[in-house]
Amino acid sequence: MDTLLQLAGEIGFSHAGVLDAASLKALPEVRDMCAADRCRRYGKSWSCPPACGSLEACAKRLASYHSGILVQTTVTLEDPFDMEAIQRTQERHKEMFHTLARQSRALYPDCLPLTAGTCTLCKSCTYPDRPCRYPKKRLSSMEAYGLLVSDVCKESGLPYYYGPGTLTFTSCILLKEGSST
Ligand code: SF4
Repeated sequence: MDTLLQLAGEIGFSHAGVLDAASLKALPEVRDMCAADRCRRYGKSWSCPPACGSLEACAKRLASYHSGILVQTTVTLEDPFDMEAIQRTQERHKEMFHTLARQSRALYPDCLPLTAGTCTLCKSCTYPDRPCRYPKKRLSSMEAYGLLVSDVCKESGLPYYYGPGTLTFTSCILLKEGSST
């Protein structure tokens, strides 16, 4: 894990910490939030529910990981409703996370990187008409797997909220037993 934490620091994440695998609980209420489709990606991407797998399948997959790290990008916003700044921050977080996911997969091919938000690799997702263009590169979100990100952070001892005016995006890399260094 030291290797991944070092990589996260080099890439430029604001915070990184060890993830407690006991916090990996796939919750029906999180899947319900996806189904409510507030982000308008439910049923529109191979990376999101229902295409990313049933909650039971996600829970089973999560249970096969025994350690991991959390990474965060935090900014302080002058205007909490500045949607452009929020989008810019999310894009920067996702870009950095793609770099970390690529490096992690090279080091630990069976790791599971989970990002923040839907897959945005293609301008328009092929779901459901054609196969995913980049099945080995696409990333699902922590929420898509049923994880309540605030709980995962709290149970892992990493803040989820850094104070008034701040905005934080969180992602994780999960490792199987024996993968950590
Ligand atoms: S890589 Fe492209 S086709 Fe695959 S899930 Fe992402 S946006 Fe959709």
